[in-house]
Amino acid sequence: MSSIDSEGMLISDRVEHRRFQTIEHGNLRGVRALVVHQTDAPTAQHTFNGYLSKGSGAHFLIEKNGAIYQTASLKKRCYHVGRYLRSKCLATDKAKCDTAQIQPIQALTWTLQIRALDRYERTKDYPERYPMNADSLGIELVGKHLDAARYEEVTAMQNQSLRWLVAELYDHFRLTPEDVYTHPQISYKHPGEASSAVWQ
Ligand SMILES: [Zn+2]
Repeated sequence: MSSIDSEGMLISDRVEHRRFQTIEHGNLRGVRALVVHQTDAPTAQHTFNGYLSKGSGAHFLIEKNGAIYQTASLKKRCYHVGRYLRSKCLATDKAKCDTAQIQPIQALTWTLQIRALDRYERTKDYPERYPMNADSLGIELVGKHLDAARYEEVTAMQNQSLRWLVAELYDHFRLTPEDVYTHPQISYKHPGEASSAVWQ
């Protein structure tokens, strides 16, 4: 069993700390969900190099051999979700959508539609909407983007580490399997990202 220290770092033999304050942007509102990503880079070192300059990133990085690095504090917000949130009710249960709100949005052209949907989704509370940067942790798995639909397969060691990490985070933040998402589920990303990740 792991613990979390006053700096928001997970304390466990299985986690190595490589914190980059360059990818932390203010405080998290809370942790309501986890978002699983793939880096589109061949090694963890490539991602560390990228994290040296201010910008986007996630809280954890899992190398192909299963090594787990914590790269940001669990109290801090990282930019990992992307700019525009998808609509959760449209994707999971259209009967839950407020048609008076959604129909005029769907009548817009695609570019205007994704912006209007994002604005509308952000008026809702989690879990009625997908998680955002302010209320979720990001977990990156090292793996290259191959083509329009595919990423490299997540390795067995990565999935084993992911399962362990997710189980620890369930305990610390009182989350359930329903609170874990892959990146393309919640925003507009290549559909293959993290598609071979298994955490249950
Ligand atoms: Zn991602």
